[in-house]
Amino acid sequence: MEENIYTEDEKELLGILEFLIHFHKTVEYENDEARAGGENIMKTFEAKKDEIINMVNKRFERLEKDNQAEGKDINSYYDEICTRCGFFSSYRPLQIVKDQKGYSFYEFYCPKCQKNFVAEFPFDDHEKLACMDAYIVMVSKKDKYGKAMIDHPNVPREVFDKFLKSTEAFREGIRKYDESKAAMIAFDGQCQKVVKQNLEVYRPIKKRIVANFFKTDIN
Ligand SMILES: [Zn+2]
Repeated sequence: MEENIYTEDEKELLGILEFLIHFHKTVEYENDEARAGGENIMKTFEAKKDEIINMVNKRFERLEKDNQAEGKDINSYYDEICTRCGFFSSYRPLQIVKDQKGYSFYEFYCPKCQKNFVAEFPFDDHEKLACMDAYIVMVSKKDKYGKAMIDHPNVPREVFDKFLKSTEAFREGIRKYDESKAAMIAFDGQCQKVVKQNLEVYRPIKKRIVANFFKTDIN
């Protein structure tokens, strides 16, 4: 597992737990009762360690998935239609280009017309939605109920209505995604609080053990 997926607090806590587990393995117990007590404490440390590692792994997996879902991976392939010749294929981006509004688009190379083309929509979902909304405003007018009606000679009504529908579905998808993401961020914050609380519990235990160890050594 990669080291950098842990926060500093998580690294410190895992280090302390490792130390405590190691320490308890070396303790010589006076009797069976003491041994059972010691083994129980060890189990607590082991369980805490597993809990932290699991939590971090889950967060890492989720962040990986988020990054993929948000299309931030320039090394992936994307299904696109060449905006110059209409050739549909799976394209790997050449680079990222920005428009006047600052929206980011992938630029691809089309093997059919042998030219570079820029994707129709930005790869960021929010920017894409903003573009879709802007397009709707551009080709439509609002009826008396505020609903967008096609108002463009070259866009058939069915095509427009379909686009309107998919825009709303896309908006709803983003809303749900953002909602669950916000919940996960709040959850991560809670986890970090728990890690901090654990540090306050385990730091003094380690300190005491280290202090006692050196005391007996000197005596
Ligand atoms: Zn092309």
